[in-house]
Amino acid sequence: MATLEIKNLHARVAEEDGEQILRGVDLEVKSGEIHALMGPNGSGKSTTSKIIAGHPAYEVTDGEILLHLEDDDFGDLDIPDDARTWNLLELEPNERAALGIFLGFQYPAEIEGVTMTNFLRTALNAKIDEREELLFGEDDEEEEEEEAGYETSPMEGNVDDGEVGVAEFQKLLKEKMELLDMDEKFMQRYLNAGFSGGEKKQNEVLQAAILEPSIAVLDEIDSGLDIDRLQDVSKGINALRDEQGTGILQITHYQRILEYVEPDHVHIMLDGKVVKSGDASLASELEDKGYDWVREEVYEAA
Ligand code: ADP
Ligand code: MG
Ligand code: MG
Repeated sequence: MATLEIKNLHARVAEEDGEQILRGVDLEVKSGEIHALMGPNGSGKSTTSKIIAGHPAYEVTDGEILLHLEDDDFGDLDIPDDARTWNLLELEPNERAALGIFLGFQYPAEIEGVTMTNFLRTALNAKIDEREELLFGEDDEEEEEEEAGYETSPMEGNVDDGEVGVAEFQKLLKEKMELLDMDEKFMQRYLNAGFSGGEKKQNEVLQAAILEPSIAVLDEIDSGLDIDRLQDVSKGINALRDEQGTGILQITHYQRILEYVEPDHVHIMLDGKVVKSGDASLASELEDKGYDWVREEVYEAA
């Protein structure tokens, strides 16, 4: 079971005189748990998720983000003792992803002619490759070959490196689409071209199913979805948790999706801080009373 631990996180915009945005974010998300991070617009929710991902627009001024791994996190792969705790802030975005943190892919511009299948297979293999390197160091043989100036044969990646080949990937994709109750026609679609907003959100859940992260951070995956699509996406998120044991940090402004994806824990952000945490009943309270009562409670106490 993996634990993502955010402690006293403070951050500012990485510019001269950049604004301080986060002023003390504390969160702990474990595999298999669903957390909702809620708060009014501008409270710092997206900034938190971008900093977890390693977005260069922000500078962390205090606090830390740790990832603790246990032996069951990567299937049969044994994790070396000295590779169980990671300081995420010292890692590149792709390294964070390789260790099991998922943040919806930053969509490049629409890429004509790249099928989603190829895109996802490449992403999965890159993750597997990077993870091995982080946990066990460089592959010596490969390095020696590179130093000796040998060209790596294009076949090698598919055969020797434990990478997922085309046929194996097709099977995996089919399995995951069944798990998420998705239409197989989806598979033939080009990466982003012509996807509706709702389809992009479903695609994000599919990406998470393929990459099997320990923790997935989903920022406003509910925004702009009609009720049918919201239910489909919610079903997918629940499957990630129930079938793969993924921990979910669900960032949302609205309570609506929480009717379908029931959180174990709810956290409220205000002015760059997590000011209140509770169980699912906290979300219902927000639904009834809005955010103002939290603000009053917090600032009266101060
Ligand atoms: P939320 O997701 O909760 O709506 P954000 O994290 O997007 O809030 O933004 C929090 C505050 O920080 C907002 O006032 C926003 O304008 C500001 N902010 C976020 N990113 C930047 C940036 N790169 N440059 C300047 N201001 C930013
Ligand atoms: Mg936001
Ligand atoms: Mg590498």
